Amino acid sequence: MSLPSRIAALVEHQRAEWPLLGEGYDALARVETRRVKIARSNLIIQHNPRRIVSTGARVDHASIEARRCFLCAENLPPEEKGIAYGSDMVILCNPFPILDHHLSIVHRNHIPQQIEGNVEVLLGLARDLAPGYFVLYNGPRCGASAPDHLHFQACSRALLPIEDDLRRLAPESNNNTISRDGAAAFTLAETGRSVIVFRGTSSDKIARLIYEALAELSQETEKAEPMVNIICTHSEGEWTVYLFPRARHRPACYFAEGEERFTISPGAIDMAGVIVVPRREDFARIDAERIEHIFSEVSLSEELVGKVIEKVELHRSPTSREGDALKP
Ligand SMILES: [Zn+2]
Repeated sequence: MSLPSRIAALVEHQRAEWPLLGEGYDALARVETRRVKIARSNLIIQHNPRRIVSTGARVDHASIEARRCFLCAENLPPEEKGIAYGSDMVILCNPFPILDHHLSIVHRNHIPQQIEGNVEVLLGLARDLAPGYFVLYNGPRCGASAPDHLHFQACSRALLPIEDDLRRLAPESNNNTISRDGAAAFTLAETGRSVIVFRGTSSDKIARLIYEALAELSQETEKAEPMVNIICTHSEGEWTVYLFPRARHRPACYFAEGEERFTISPGAIDMAGVIVVPRREDFARIDAERIEHIFSEVSLSEELVGKVIEKVELHRSPTSREGDALKP
């Protein structure tokens, strides 16, 4: 049986046998949504009350130290079952789904969330779950509610607005294009947030380009791991990776009081175009303008991202310059 078939069977089994997951999917079937447009990007606003667990999570060091890690095997509820992935990861069902077949892919050991050394795992997962899923990574300081335990997530790819944006807007909205050894990177303008898109058919080459961009982002932002959310898909032998460089985790309105308060805490799925809004009062009054403002606050500026791509481009070796397979 293929991995996606085994996962489909796991989700069915867990929905029936694990009450929390059954409730999660019942609630997902009832979520209200609304469509809005910012710049030339189409977004979906989702009212999902159960997500308050994650949106409202305290992720400061002291709070993380004080809680029992919900991804460690010994703390999982007895009903929760998984599928082994490789020798050191386990695929689990996320009991607070935002999208259909929402999975967590969790390392067996309690080791920190970090992208360094793990881009290949992300790419491998996207290939092994293709074509029906996208895989995501939330950085430890911008969306991961377990920053102390390495994990990825995956969801059904049926609803992935940034993918539709790319299809619709590329190539005329591509900026800062670089291509090297059959792997390409470019920024996608007119989406209201900063995103670098990587494409290629070789896992090694695309990983190398991503690591170079991460290293430059790290230098620009003076952070050991730059704040990023990543979405990855794989179709017909080709990977597409959407990297969202972040300037901050939570927008100012998250901490505001009264009318100004919106409990919105963007992670990869929000940056990909599904804005999760747990509180009804926020869902009732949030609009395109507010989301545009939130995106502009939490995204690294397009100018800085352009500079990062330029620096990656400068580092290309003379041999790869000659051996270019893809021209912008
Ligand atoms: Zn843990």
